[in-house]
Amino acid sequence: MKVFNTMTRQKEEFKPINPNKVNMYVCGPTVYDFFHIGNARTFLVFDTVRRYFEYKGYEVNYIQNFTDIDDKMINRANKEGITVKELGDNFIKEYYQDADGLNIKRATNNPRATEYIDEIIEFVEDLINKGYAYEVDGDVYFSTKKFKEYGKLSGQNLEDLQAGARINVDERKEDPMDFAVWKSEKPGEPSWKSPWGNGRPGWHIECSCMAHNLLGDTIDIHAGGADLVFPHHENEVAQSEARNGKTFANYWMHSAYLNIDNKKMSKSLNNFFTAREILKQYDPEVIRLFMLSAHYRTPLNFSKDLLESAKASLERLYNAIGNLERLQNEVTKIELTGQEDKYKKELDLYKDKYIEKMDDDFNTADAIAVMFDLVRDINSNINADSSKKVVDYALSLIRELGSPLGVLQNSTICDLDEEIEKLVELRQQARKEKNWSLADKIRDDLKEKGIVLEDTPQGVRWKKI
Ligand code: AMP
Ligand code: ZN
Repeated sequence: MKVFNTMTRQKEEFKPINPNKVNMYVCGPTVYDFFHIGNARTFLVFDTVRRYFEYKGYEVNYIQNFTDIDDKMINRANKEGITVKELGDNFIKEYYQDADGLNIKRATNNPRATEYIDEIIEFVEDLINKGYAYEVDGDVYFSTKKFKEYGKLSGQNLEDLQAGARINVDERKEDPMDFAVWKSEKPGEPSWKSPWGNGRPGWHIECSCMAHNLLGDTIDIHAGGADLVFPHHENEVAQSEARNGKTFANYWMHSAYLNIDNKKMSKSLNNFFTAREILKQYDPEVIRLFMLSAHYRTPLNFSKDLLESAKASLERLYNAIGNLERLQNEVTKIELTGQEDKYKKELDLYKDKYIEKMDDDFNTADAIAVMFDLVRDINSNINADSSKKVVDYALSLIRELGSPLGVLQNSTICDLDEEIEKLVELRQQARKEKNWSLADKIRDDLKEKGIVLEDTPQGVRWKKI
């Protein structure tokens, strides 16, 4: 498998630290509000990366944190008149509701930064002891010039960064590029006791610390949205490698932005839709297909047109599934013919192609195109004269290729049954209200679909003919 590594700026063969295992850390949301559909892109992309590794037989230890202490958290909690902890608890609950709604698998662990304060303090002490950090009036800063490789992730050098950072220089810092790993307490802010007085951790150290505690010195993959390359991940590399003396992450993966009118969707630009709003309008699988229709390193523009086209695409895929599900009950032959045996092997070629695309840095866009080719082939070659075995095989293949993308696992039969039940109920209601024309219309419509109604002492029954 090839993975594009932001650190080396090239695709590399993926080699896990332990055979068949992947340790992954993904930067999660700051839980001060509902997450928007731009955040959702990043969550969905790495959920798909994880699912694909699992599909390939890897055991994935998937960590995604909650940032539950920072300026935005504090401001919002103060505005609402609640504690930062209450705010975090609330939006973590909302996060799970929306993430579950998007069919994002639950992480192995979702650590909260505030649960790691002791470990963060230890981390900062180590950095000070090793000469990589210094204290000024209760604040502790990381000394960027001490870490010789500072800038290696984002491909910048310290001199250029320093030159660009002259404005807004904090006099207390030894160098404009130094960043806070511990911040002294300010009035109205939550704080914890530390050797440098009361205070709270800086954002970057939280992720370095949680990743280290849950996954060790070196992890396989560290991931997040493209906006995190600098400074968040650059600073994480500096702190972690300075403290542990080992490579922090073997692969750095970053997903491109979800844009709106070619601008990054973000809270600060107020150009966002929450995932919850969009989930009210679209099936989660439509949203997933839309997000995965672009390669994860390509910016994607959000538009209703694209969502509508993803909806039509999903319908096409489910129509094929629906046909096969119907054929499963209709076909009379069971065993494969010799010709069908050959045909199965032809279908396998689509799977090979799909794997080739996904193995190439998770090219979901091309993999989805392969799925359409597969479905087209199945639609024109499998019919009522086919055997049950080939129908079953085709159906399981479509579902198999859908699973790493988190789509196509539903049955159309169930949906149809529910729809029929609803119509039968509606007809009963119409009869009660003596609306005979509506009742008859529903019965006739159902009949056209091959559904007949029978009045029995237990109520109305329906059957397919
Ligand atoms: P935040 O809650 O702002 O810390 O963001 C949570 C995650 O969403 C991070 O990995 C961000 O990089 C990512 N993210 C934020 N905005 C976007 C966007 N418009 N498109 C894709 N990912 C984003
Ligand atoms: Zn992070």
